[in-house]
Amino acid sequence: MEIIDNPYKKPMAKNTPSYANNIIRRTLKTILDRELTEKEKTDIWTYFDSRCCYCDRQLDRKKREGDMDHLEANRCNHISNRVLSCSPCNAHEKREYPWVKFLRQQSSDDSIFQARKTRIDQWVAKHQIAGNISKQHNLQLEQEMELVTQTLNEAVARLRNLRAHADTND
Ligand SMILES: [Zn+2]
Repeated sequence: MEIIDNPYKKPMAKNTPSYANNIIRRTLKTILDRELTEKEKTDIWTYFDSRCCYCDRQLDRKKREGDMDHLEANRCNHISNRVLSCSPCNAHEKREYPWVKFLRQQSSDDSIFQARKTRIDQWVAKHQIAGNISKQHNLQLEQEMELVTQTLNEAVARLRNLRAHADTND
């Protein structure tokens, strides 16, 4: 599991309550936001015909050439947000850069752009129903995190209080 969500963000000081809170959030999120199964990866390879969805480069799965790119970098791992991409496209694609703009850059003319965009849009639409369920999941995650944060904060307050008393008794 990834420890730091955003590599451009400074790593958080370890062993602090907010660090623990973040780790718990990621741990709980991983339960809901699982990685792709091998079957789903195969579906993606088949749907995109073993080609990068952005630049149309032919990819060889046996040589581990393709990446399961996140269309929207900050969204979930769900199949509706995953496409087949070559490593250069995946690497050049800036984290906050909208994929539609990136696709336009990679397409030599408008008809090529439209054809590739339609193919990606249809892939997203095909899996949209399952994608909507994750909104409920996210809501539940937020509710669970409120409880965790509250419990953690109370424990921190009790222990700090205990230490403060111990310090004055020294
Ligand atoms: Zn590419």
